[in-house]
Amino acid sequence: MTDLTFAFTEAERLPAADRDAILENPGFGDHFTDHMVSITWTKDAGWHDARVMPYGPIAMDPASSVLHYGQEIFEGLKAYRRADGSIVTFRPEENARRLNESATRLALPQIPVELFVEATKQLVAVDAEWVPSGADQSLYIRPFMIADESFLGVRAAQRARFMVIASPAGPYFSGGVKPVSIWLSQDFARAGHGGTGAAKCGGNYAASLLPQNVAAENGCQQVLFTDADNPDVIDELGGMNLFLVRGDSTLVTPALNGNILPGITRKSLIQLAQDRGYAVEERAVTVTEWREGVADGSIVEAFACGTAAVITPIGQLKSPDFTIDFGDRAPGEFTLSLREELTGIQYGSREDRHGWLEEI
Ligand code: PMP
Repeated sequence: MTDLTFAFTEAERLPAADRDAILENPGFGDHFTDHMVSITWTKDAGWHDARVMPYGPIAMDPASSVLHYGQEIFEGLKAYRRADGSIVTFRPEENARRLNESATRLALPQIPVELFVEATKQLVAVDAEWVPSGADQSLYIRPFMIADESFLGVRAAQRARFMVIASPAGPYFSGGVKPVSIWLSQDFARAGHGGTGAAKCGGNYAASLLPQNVAAENGCQQVLFTDADNPDVIDELGGMNLFLVRGDSTLVTPALNGNILPGITRKSLIQLAQDRGYAVEERAVTVTEWREGVADGSIVEAFACGTAAVITPIGQLKSPDFTIDFGDRAPGEFTLSLREELTGIQYGSREDRHGWLEEI
């Protein structure tokens, strides 16, 4: 256990009527709660000065390392309001562990798992009224760590800050659970051997924005990134992992090869599918295999998964050379039932048999 206690500064709260108006239709990532968490780290003193404070701008020295060399990592998890009014988060220790893996790769400090979980709990508890109760709504929690030493030499910073902010969220894609079109990015890679593909660092997302624009220009909502050396080998989408569903009760998904993010939704769905008796193959998956499997009927569904959008059916794969429509672009039966099972656990209509929920 950590012996850090959180100092608390009450924020001026948004009037209840204004907050409720936002919660009616929160969008995604547009609005923020009344408070935030900040904890400081220095090489000499370790983690200290934990605070729950009013949400607002932070003062930063213009020489802070994060502004120059991008030493930044983040996480994303959600708090759900259940029918009985109680609030839970989903597998927060997994996010803490993944943040620490990202920290190792980005030469940032490790944060104790209990401190990470306690920080998210403190924020959700003080801003509990911001956890919406509508269908498919949640409070999206964004923990992040930045290097804020003022020093222009290129080396790992000796001072960092861990913060948590939160944002009420409706469905990630405005169309709801409608199959999305994805763009096969052949000109741009997201990750390569020995790079930062498995880390959740800001730079990976900066590099994905241009291909994301190209996808949008081609009428697609997401980009499918492939292996930097072999464009036939599938890695993942810009913000989601990918699964193919075979008709013989098998799920196929790219292995955690160091280039893709180890998704917590991915890990949870593998467990739920295995509980149903499905075989799950984690291995190299190719675009060729996908195209041929759809053509011969052995691949019956495809979906993407991640915390923000949960499970999203894939209806179409587009590239400059070809377009494939899957299943007349209707959401697949297995995809929808797996989505229903996972969201049922999160929102409390189904038993949490694996002990994934953390009560606030
Ligand atoms: N891949 C990438 C690149 C992501 O940004 C995300 C979202 N965190 C995921 C996969 C899915 O991860 P998770 O299920 O933990 O949200």
